[in-house]
Amino acid sequence: MKAVQFGKHGGRDVIEYDEFPDPEVGPEDVLVDVKAGALNHLDVWTRKGLGATGRLDLEMPHVPGSDMAGVVDAVGDDVTRFAPGDRVALLSGVSCGTCEFCRRGEPTLCVDYHVIGEHVQGVHAEQAAVHEDQLAPVPEGVDWATAAAAPLVFQTAWRMLLERGELESGESVLVLGASGGVGHAAVQIAADAGATVYATASTEEKMQHARECGADFVVNYEDEDFADAIREQTGDRGVDVVVDHVGAATWYSSLKSLARGGRLLTCGATTGPRPETHIGRIFWNQLDVRGSTMASHGSAERALEKVWDGTFEPRIRAELPMSETARAHERLENREGFGKVVVIPDSER
Ligand code: ZN
Repeated sequence: MKAVQFGKHGGRDVIEYDEFPDPEVGPEDVLVDVKAGALNHLDVWTRKGLGATGRLDLEMPHVPGSDMAGVVDAVGDDVTRFAPGDRVALLSGVSCGTCEFCRRGEPTLCVDYHVIGEHVQGVHAEQAAVHEDQLAPVPEGVDWATAAAAPLVFQTAWRMLLERGELESGESVLVLGASGGVGHAAVQIAADAGATVYATASTEEKMQHARECGADFVVNYEDEDFADAIREQTGDRGVDVVVDHVGAATWYSSLKSLARGGRLLTCGATTGPRPETHIGRIFWNQLDVRGSTMASHGSAERALEKVWDGTFEPRIRAELPMSETARAHERLENREGFGKVVVIPDSER
């Protein structure tokens, strides 16, 4: 079969779309004919060899990809939840089920937590074999681009805002980088939860998209310091919650945007993980800094229910053949467009 792959870490030129051994299907595995995959910023970090907390140690060549949807082609002997012909999407977070954190119902804190495509072989290929626990059903009528684009970012934003962030109706939220995958999901989830949503974006077109996703007030961060704009808009109060997946470039302004007792939520650091900070501001204003990553499969499926019923909608900035995955990375790295970049196996186009 054909698969996106790279034989070493590096720039976009290491990415190839070429023959790769067919997946082996274990007794609890499901073989999926991939109809669409979606990119996440973690694909860029993985290509460079950088994981959330340090260098990655990957088997090469590595097939990237942590989001995909498709049709079940075959199942292992012990599979009970799926049958050939079923429509499925990947839930890429893997937990052991037996450690202290898994036993207390926190699978994303698992001591062996890892992500398909980031830490082990991914799914941007013509076929993928994954354990049946890593799949969610996709209803008829949901298109493949939507089914592939939604899972990782909507589960991440869902857990971050509603579980880790304890967001309540009537609170105010600032979502940085609303044009990114997680950002545009967070705007939709916060608006649906009844929050007043502030967002940042870099162009008039992206600002309009953010408003369509539910943002009440959008700041162009290229034109003005977003913290100043938020303090002005809120009568110098600040917001209850900031969602920051940008990292080093925005962290200090995020702290400045928070109201007393506010929560700074982070699930990523696209501009780097070591920001300037201000400890005085954190203790004097009694701020919380809360990390979040991925979600339990139960929470992921609750978020996806609201995608399948149309409450939430992953916006698609581009659909490319898998052979143009390097271009897909370029779009992410250059912050071109709004929403998700989808890749389709060339044989499916
Ligand atoms: Zn565990």
